[in-house]
Amino acid sequence: MNVLLIGSGGREHALAWKLAASPMLGTLFAAPGNPGIAEHATLVVIDIADHQAVVNFCNLNAIALVVVGPEGPLVDGLADSLAAAGIKVFGPSRKAAQLEGSKGFTKDLCARYDIPTAAYGRFNNAPKAKAYVRAQGAPIVIKADGLAAGKGVTVAMTLDEALGAIDDCFEGAFGAAGAEVVVEEFLTGEEASFFVLCDGKTALPLTTAQDHKRVGDGDTGPNTGGMGAYSPAPVMTPELIARTMTEIIEPTMRGMAEMGAPFSGILYAGLMIGPDGPKLIEYNVRFGDPECQVMMMRLRDDILVLLMAAADGGLANLSVRWRDEAALSVVMAAENYPGPPRKGTEIRGLEAAAETGAKVFHAGTALREGKLVADGGRVLNVTALGARVGDAQALAYRAVAAIDWPGGFCRSDIGWQAVARESA
Ligand code: ATP
Repeated sequence: MNVLLIGSGGREHALAWKLAASPMLGTLFAAPGNPGIAEHATLVVIDIADHQAVVNFCNLNAIALVVVGPEGPLVDGLADSLAAAGIKVFGPSRKAAQLEGSKGFTKDLCARYDIPTAAYGRFNNAPKAKAYVRAQGAPIVIKADGLAAGKGVTVAMTLDEALGAIDDCFEGAFGAAGAEVVVEEFLTGEEASFFVLCDGKTALPLTTAQDHKRVGDGDTGPNTGGMGAYSPAPVMTPELIARTMTEIIEPTMRGMAEMGAPFSGILYAGLMIGPDGPKLIEYNVRFGDPECQVMMMRLRDDILVLLMAAADGGLANLSVRWRDEAALSVVMAAENYPGPPRKGTEIRGLEAAAETGAKVFHAGTALREGKLVADGGRVLNVTALGARVGDAQALAYRAVAAIDWPGGFCRSDIGWQAVARESA
């Protein structure tokens, strides 16, 4: 069967690599893709915001399944447009994508279905938000309601910082995403990510991961899209996974179905594991990036069978098998990221990196006059398997050392929490 994959990051390279291993795959198309994805797919130029253009492409190329990588097109209703045209799609409807597209929507769902999460208030003007913050005190968390590429959240340690963040939101720092603000109780504990595959009715637990959002070693510096990840997350014991399913995921699935927006696709729960157990920090409605890269390295089963079953409502009798090994991914970014990255610097040594046994997924790369160059903020995802997280970490950094890219940098401590646990 022919598949259209939408996206251009390391997440989509990992999906393309895994899709290409499926005996069911006919031709894989990717829009817009990147030079790594091009090893497995025919790259096509389609304006993804033009839903009719995507539908036309699918009809002309006998596309049996569209796999949507990023959240933007889902929140924008691409899945609805494809479904209305009779084309199967992996990813939620616009209404169901509100689980990521509106933090206030998710908080209200949690309140209605008794899902453990931080206490909160929703506000559409600064004076009311500030009065609530003054009454609660710091530390406290201020969030723009809508999509802000991970930049709309301020974990405020002081009252002044919180009041400033409220002004930023209402003064338009995050555009329409900041027209409403969610103020949350500050949670403490260890963060973990939990992924579930959903078909509208059934929620099939996949696996766990942990990521590193800050740009600098020791989790310092500004937030990024993610500087590395590993899977599984040792903090997520089988007991915590079972609790997350019954206390968080299952009521969410029930709630979405009851409001006429059954959830299908990947439900990615960002959790805080504290003394009372798991609490929901946020939902994403797609694979994480770079969490997807470590998950695809560990997945034993045919990804196309799983994605098709999710799109078809056929997950009830499926299970998913994972390698026992851990996987770890180190993100290599272009100089100055997460500020405006320096583009165009040449990257060499990917063959030498591959010889170590690690897998290098491409994110923001481009080919210029036969040379591979940096063309974005996060550029390469150097990903490895190992018996334990520490082994995967050692192999990934061996491969990083083989890459000759003076214009790039990476953190040197990805996986530190898990490695500390392993050596305790
Ligand atoms: P991203 O898309 O980058 O995952 P986001 O913009 O959707 O992030 P959240 O995941 O809600 O925002 O928050 C970003 C980070 O802020 C979390 O990973 C967590 O570290 C911190 N955070 C969010 N909410 C809370 C909270 N209530 N208490 C403590 N920390 C929090």
